[in-house]
Amino acid sequence: MSWEKNMRTVDPYVAGEQPKQAGVIKLNTNECPYPPSPMVRKAAEDFDCEKLRLYPDMNAEKLVNALAGYCHVKPEQIFVGVGSDDVLAMAFMTFFNGDKPILFPDITYSFYDVWADVFRIPFRTCPLDEDFCIRKEDYLVPNGGIVIPNPNAPTGVLEATAMFEEILQANPDSVVIIDEAYIDFGGESMLPLIEKYDNLMVVQTFSKSRAMAGIRIGFAIANEKLIRYLKDVKFSFNSYTMNMPSIEMGTAAVLDDAYFKEIVGKIVATREWTKEQLRELGFTFADSKSNFIFATHKSVPARDIFLALKENNIYVRYWNKPRIDNYLRITIGTDEQMQKLITFLKTYLKEH
Ligand SMILES: *Cc1c(COP(=O)(O)O)cnc(C)c1O
Repeated sequence: MSWEKNMRTVDPYVAGEQPKQAGVIKLNTNECPYPPSPMVRKAAEDFDCEKLRLYPDMNAEKLVNALAGYCHVKPEQIFVGVGSDDVLAMAFMTFFNGDKPILFPDITYSFYDVWADVFRIPFRTCPLDEDFCIRKEDYLVPNGGIVIPNPNAPTGVLEATAMFEEILQANPDSVVIIDEAYIDFGGESMLPLIEKYDNLMVVQTFSKSRAMAGIRIGFAIANEKLIRYLKDVKFSFNSYTMNMPSIEMGTAAVLDDAYFKEIVGKIVATREWTKEQLRELGFTFADSKSNFIFATHKSVPARDIFLALKENNIYVRYWNKPRIDNYLRITIGTDEQMQKLITFLKTYLKEH
């Protein structure tokens, strides 16, 4: 088949499993265990389907204005997309067109190398240190761009803003993307620094802390010029990706700040309880400021625990990859779900 040589070939991103059977305790894809705000439900119920005849507002102005008010920036500094995966993919395509490799950690969100491959962007990974911390020096070298999650995934480690400032200052010729998918669970956002650094873009998502992975909303905040470049590429690709119900429901979520703070507070409390319990069971982990814990056990292999949990309808995430093949990434669920996890582990670890 001669056409086959013209294919763009890539090993696709592998997402965590979405089991079909009922009764699963699902702690494998960092979703929120609580429903979205009741205001989101109301927005869905109030949505008039007659409107679907028309194309949606390609600027998603209503949602953008709500986010601008919430984040204290101008609407022109915001780019919204269909999940932050969409935002990040567009950003890779728009910003990373130099000859030098882009940089990101060796242990990180496993979509970055997939986008680099699919867009044919040269990249180099920078090894985290033994404690899963970023080695700043690795990013003080010539590069075509930088992308780092803070807190990092799947480690949960939060780095100090001051370190990122040093990286930004050393790289005035590169765009630096900070992926803040988990920032709401205890970190300090880099958002206030976008005025100071014109090469900084901060990306956040509604999928984790806003309990709306199913709606697909993510957004980026940067200076107006970066956002304009991003929009030019997006509108040259598909202008109408954000649909009308998403705009309405997303806006409702942003406006209900009290509910947002309530569920984030509950998850943080459950996370701290889970840390204590896991420690008592012989697990160690870097301190997590996200909605998951990346843990290894002192004597029982992670893969064995992963399979035993799965057998018992408790799903966590495991990667058979260098450096992390003895770790489990455990999403924080409800108190009741975490109690069931700990109860199972107590019995299992006693027997192994
Ligand atoms: C979950 C996640 C995303 C993407 O989430 P969306 O659902 O596409 O918004 C991006 N980066 C990191 C590090 C994530 O964990």
